[in-house]
Amino acid sequence: MSIQKLVTSGVRSLQPYQPGKPVEELERELGISGIIKLASNENPRGASPCVTEAVAHALRDLARYPDGSGYSLKSKLGSRLGVRPEHITLGNGSNDVLEIIARCFISSGDGVVISEHAFAVYYLASRAAGANIVFTPADRYGHDLSEMRKAISASTRLIFIANPNNPTGTHLKHRELHAFLKDLPEEVIAVLDEAYVEYTDGMDHPDGIALLNEFPNLIVTRTFSKAYGIAALRVGYAAASEEITEILNRVRQPFNVNSLALIAAEAALEDQHFVADSVRENKEQLTRLADACAELGLQTIPSAANFICVEVGPAAAAIYEAMLRLGVIVRPVANYGLPNHLRITVGTPQENDRLIDALRTAIDEPAPSHRE
Ligand SMILES: *Cc1c(COP(=O)(O)O)cnc(C)c1O
Repeated sequence: MSIQKLVTSGVRSLQPYQPGKPVEELERELGISGIIKLASNENPRGASPCVTEAVAHALRDLARYPDGSGYSLKSKLGSRLGVRPEHITLGNGSNDVLEIIARCFISSGDGVVISEHAFAVYYLASRAAGANIVFTPADRYGHDLSEMRKAISASTRLIFIANPNNPTGTHLKHRELHAFLKDLPEEVIAVLDEAYVEYTDGMDHPDGIALLNEFPNLIVTRTFSKAYGIAALRVGYAAASEEITEILNRVRQPFNVNSLALIAAEAALEDQHFVADSVRENKEQLTRLADACAELGLQTIPSAANFICVEVGPAAAAIYEAMLRLGVIVRPVANYGLPNHLRITVGTPQENDRLIDALRTAIDEPAPSHRE
């Protein structure tokens, strides 16, 4: 008897999500310190001091359950976004929300459309729920909306769009996304993942929240893990119609967002200066990294986010390993169908100095063998 036979067909085919390598793990392996991690698109400036202070204060009351409705955070978030709290579903990170969505709308055999090179969690969450996934070919590494439209069939329930996309950094402009949504059958729910939306200022980037009025079959997800700098605490959310929100809340765990996370997210929202400074520095440093890669003779995919996907060639795995030995963690993206690329999170100016040095050294001398 094999336990494997008992596993649902969706889960049977899954591989666990591969996160960026933790600093502590590399420290243990190499016995070195001073490691920098540019592998998970966190805010290199950390979190706002307002957050740290609010969390320290909240540590006094760990015995109580959190507010399961997240009332206070949803009110603040709602006024910032211009929607009522009845349109917001909070999640333990937006990954949690993506999973809730799959659970609500996918039964075994239902269709889900995902672009090549799109964020891995769409596949994981949908497949675990039993979906048949259709992958559509990318257009210059980004989502090809006409291919995605063509892939929709009578069985399609969900379509996932990451804007900007991780790991490619590509993004769709307002006009193309709007035209796509207008043409989308009402019976298909579009999930628009805007984890990096804060970084897209001034790029003719669509505002998913503004599109909600027009498209009742749209769900927008966002997160506090990236520009807001609190990935450790896990807070994300979905904004959608009241009807969809009520459905999502049926399966949401009652206390899925913990008290410290709720308080931290509220404090993070209040400090918009911190977010604006982070975004400004990211923009400068992103340009600098793209220029440095060009000087090294490496192609990059134009990025609208806080990371850059660099084509380093068939030695990508060895270059990644060589960089690890220099104490710089980046992200291999072979599992995204990009075996010749590495994804690099934009760090602080000092981190980027080290990154550029390490990349230069590693492309000259990739590690001879590699474990993966
Ligand atoms: C980082 C990321 C998320 C956010 O995940 P959290 O669970 O909110 O930390 C969602 N979507 C994409 C595309 C991401 O890169």
